[in-house]
Amino acid sequence: MSEVDGPGGEALPAGERARRARAARRARGEAAATPAERRRAARSREPLFARAEVDEVRRLRRLQAGERLRLQARRAMIGDGLAIGIDIGGTKVAAGVVDAQGRVVARARRDTPTRSPQAVEDLIAELVAELSARHEIVSVGIGAAGFVDVTRSTVVFSPHLAWRDEPLREAVELRVRERLGRRVGRRTLVENDANAAAWAEYRFGAGRGEPRLVCITLGTGIGGAMVTEGRLQRGRHGIAGEFGHMVVVPGGHRCECGNRGCWEQYASGNSLGRDGRELARGRSPFGHALLAGAGGDPEAVRGQVVTDAARTGDPAAVEIVQDTGRWLGTGIANLAAALDPGTFVIGGGVSDAGDLLLGPAREEFRRTLTGRGYRPEAEIVRAQLGPDAGLVGAADLSRGWG
Ligand SMILES: [Zn+2]
Repeated sequence: MSEVDGPGGEALPAGERARRARAARRARGEAAATPAERRRAARSREPLFARAEVDEVRRLRRLQAGERLRLQARRAMIGDGLAIGIDIGGTKVAAGVVDAQGRVVARARRDTPTRSPQAVEDLIAELVAELSARHEIVSVGIGAAGFVDVTRSTVVFSPHLAWRDEPLREAVELRVRERLGRRVGRRTLVENDANAAAWAEYRFGAGRGEPRLVCITLGTGIGGAMVTEGRLQRGRHGIAGEFGHMVVVPGGHRCECGNRGCWEQYASGNSLGRDGRELARGRSPFGHALLAGAGGDPEAVRGQVVTDAARTGDPAAVEIVQDTGRWLGTGIANLAAALDPGTFVIGGGVSDAGDLLLGPAREEFRRTLTGRGYRPEAEIVRAQLGPDAGLVGAADLSRGWG
């Protein structure tokens, strides 16, 4: 006889049976019977702050689910047509018409005009007008260095351009309409340049098929981005992936961000240039090739001069690139400890040094990786799309991906 049968062991009606079963479980201190009772019981046990946190997480999940649906709807609406991608660099603005396979079918390029936001917006509108005259365009994507808000319309802060809370999307759409008397494409989108480049490598380059990808762009500084299961990880406020400003040397070289010892002070084009200039200034015979590469002026040694000299086999330049590679490996090991991706894709101008840079990076990575020897190791590979990555990624994202 069970505890929910009648006193004589006779069967009870179903409703009464269930009620007695619940009472018995409550008496034994087990979970309440119905889902609603379980939720009520769980909520009454949560302290107030935890409840607020849970509500916030639920709200974010709903927002993300909504965003996913919106993206799918946009993708269906925009389709696989041609998109314009624009990459705003510190010195050049590159634009291209990109097809659904990531191929650039037309290009335009200008010098970055000034630091004035309006002049840059005018230039973008000019490029959009020029490219859309010859092609049917479905959307426009703009990649810019700096913090881009989660709605991907406003540049919150840009280090190279004087943009502070600049509503770039609206401004460009307005200027295009003024210029052409119509809008171009169904949608304009603004994305952080490192995110755009990572997306391009994920879709069409060295990161294809990798479900957990981290991309590191080595330019004058270090840009970073993550793609997880087909989505860019932008963080809560849209500014995740600023790996270049992880502190690797407390009290080290001063960074433009105001801190000292940031990773990008040791593993970027700027740091290559700084080390190269130091060597060239000393007028040592070891600095001769660097000095020659910079036209005899030690102050004109830039990262590019060092990587070029290293590729011709100059021993001093090779040493500087190898040092940079080791710093790169140290930072990648830190990122692997935190993020555990399957592949690191290394892009940007400095990656032109190829295995001269990536060889020492892989060695240092293996030497410093936490749990080394007892865990699978991520691959470190060179990016495949070169300087096109930013504009190809921005164009593809504007179609509703990512
Ligand atoms: Zn910094």
